Amino acid sequence: MVEKVIPIRLDEGKDKGLAPPIPGQLVAANTSTKDTRGRPLRDLRISVTDRCNFRCTYCMPKEIFDKNYPYLSHQELLSFEEIARLTTIFASLGVEKIRLTGGEPLLRKNLEVLIEMLAKIRSTAGQPLDLTLTTNGSILRKKAAALKAAGLHRLTISLDGLNDEIFKKMNDVDFPVTDVLDGIAAAQEAGFTNLKVNMVVKKGTNDQEIIAMAKHFKGSGVTLRFIEFMDVGSSNGWDMSQVLPSKDVAEKINAVFPIEAIEANYPGEVAQRWRYVDGSGEIGFISSVTQTFCHECTRARISTDGQMYLCLFANAGFDFKTLLRSDKSDLEIANAIMNTWADREDHYSEIRGSNTATAATRKVEMSYIGG
Ligand code: SF4
Repeated sequence: MVEKVIPIRLDEGKDKGLAPPIPGQLVAANTSTKDTRGRPLRDLRISVTDRCNFRCTYCMPKEIFDKNYPYLSHQELLSFEEIARLTTIFASLGVEKIRLTGGEPLLRKNLEVLIEMLAKIRSTAGQPLDLTLTTNGSILRKKAAALKAAGLHRLTISLDGLNDEIFKKMNDVDFPVTDVLDGIAAAQEAGFTNLKVNMVVKKGTNDQEIIAMAKHFKGSGVTLRFIEFMDVGSSNGWDMSQVLPSKDVAEKINAVFPIEAIEANYPGEVAQRWRYVDGSGEIGFISSVTQTFCHECTRARISTDGQMYLCLFANAGFDFKTLLRSDKSDLEIANAIMNTWADREDHYSEIRGSNTATAATRKVEMSYIGG
């Protein structure tokens, strides 16, 4: 029985993020700002909705995210224009990759319009930003072609098993596997390549699906990644005993389909890359619990209502919506971002379980800031 805990909500005034101060002396927007650990700002995750049609037990347990849950009203959400303006400012500070998340981002109406706006933005090198999106695949059949046409580059689909009963236990809304697989097929038909599928492994719930998933996606051109169950937010009842370390998952697969580790594509890549020795494709491991990667973390997050978070496990954000809706200029907002990032110390996964980590107040919910 999950203990009833009301997750952090900004409008509850507990951890309301304050608007960061605008420095008296403004400097030109630049890409050289590093945080206190020498990490540059290169990736931005933008949550476009705090709603979802799934109730994955590791993210939005339905006992808590029920019909009485205080979801954000439409007025509270950043508009597409505000998201595009903020993204343009982040791009001027070195951001090259955008991941649209949620909740379930495809539930945000006319999302293609936002993607078209973001596709016009250029990095400081004059290149289009790398536009990616993570979805549960439930409405991908309907949306894939429009997302592609709007300029989305890459897709990641969450799928936690092939056995319907087990998958339904994970998504907790009785949603069938076939529809997600059909969504993946629709994405391939729409011309998306280099698709990724993420499976959260919860020991004792779906770990018996690991080999079946590997077998299904092996040789399909889709890269399957296994994610260690994380203590995100404050309501998923996380416990270390439910974590199956990636090392064990890799051993399980290697015993059936020999695999070997390969180089990362770039510094700060979240997933460790492996490939099948027989050349039939890649798999990946995202091991935030047992093999932390904070030392290379270049990610900032923007919540659905414009709060900037410096870590997935943060307990408070910085209110940029207030600045966007004020008379502050882009340069002033850019300076506020640079200062906020420069003060960043976050490395939660490295201190998980330590007094410092546990002393912190409740953590913000992943469904609010995106995975
Ligand atoms: S725990 Fe925080 S700092 Fe570490 S990798 Fe994750 S988001 Fe980055």
